[in-house]
Amino acid sequence: GSLLMADDLHKSYGPTPALDGAEFSIHPGEVVAVMGPSGSGKSTLLHCLAGIVRPDSGSVHYGGRELSAMSDSERSSLRRGEFGFVFQFGQLVPELTCVENVALPLRLNGVKRKEAEARSLSWMERLEVDAVAAKRPGEVSGGQGQRVAVARSLVTGPRVLFADEPTGALDSLNGERVMELLTEAARETRTAVVLVTHEARVAAYSDREVVVRDGKARDMAGAR
Ligand code: ADP
Ligand code: ADP
Repeated sequence: GSLLMADDLHKSYGPTPALDGAEFSIHPGEVVAVMGPSGSGKSTLLHCLAGIVRPDSGSVHYGGRELSAMSDSERSSLRRGEFGFVFQFGQLVPELTCVENVALPLRLNGVKRKEAEARSLSWMERLEVDAVAAKRPGEVSGGQGQRVAVARSLVTGPRVLFADEPTGALDSLNGERVMELLTEAARETRTAVVLVTHEARVAAYSDREVVVRDGKARDMAGAR
């Protein structure tokens, strides 16, 4: 069955709805691209799926449970444990080295420094950024920094990775390398990936595309 699914989501911030009856579902290990023009509701859909934004109506189920029926602390522990996040920029702590950045979520979960850094380094190897482990984010390239961010999002072993324009700040060569490594790691670990992008060449790394237009999400199953 579906790991995460949304039914008939509505959300308005003003007179024009950001979501107007959006549906979505994703299976373990599946990479789904959420596409559509700017302002169509992609980020709002992602935020509702991740339990960051509460929809006005409709439901989101994760592992068979409705997010709105959970307490705030249950939802935030989902976001710390079961869910991982990668954004376009500004996610690494500039004062920490790259390996300390990757280890941060483990350290916050109480994992001892040595073990946290060892686990972090093995993820950095998979994403081919172990060579910059001791550098600070300001000393690495954009593509390396984004791969460090991907390593950090996966180090806790999330079931769902939410990626909002993860390659938006990169040139196409670096963007494709990030997508290659991200989807390879996700498929190996059966992590579901909700990938928001407006770029077809980024969406090409997905198994399936969902197109959002005017707050309505349409599944393009079989379109590929
Ligand atoms: P996309 O990610 O496709 O660019 P968004 O989900 O960010 O679309 O936005 C959909 C619509 O909702 C836009 O008109 C946007 O301005 C509006 N919107 C999104 N978030 C907020 C917010 N926090 N407050 C007010 N309006 C918002
Ligand atoms: P994206 O296109 O990825 O959604 P944005 O810069 O539009 O990036 O949105 C960044 C954040 O600002 C999101 O949390 C979104 O909900 C919020 N936001 C988007 N549009 C508006 C808006 N019109 N007013 C207030 N907040 C907004």
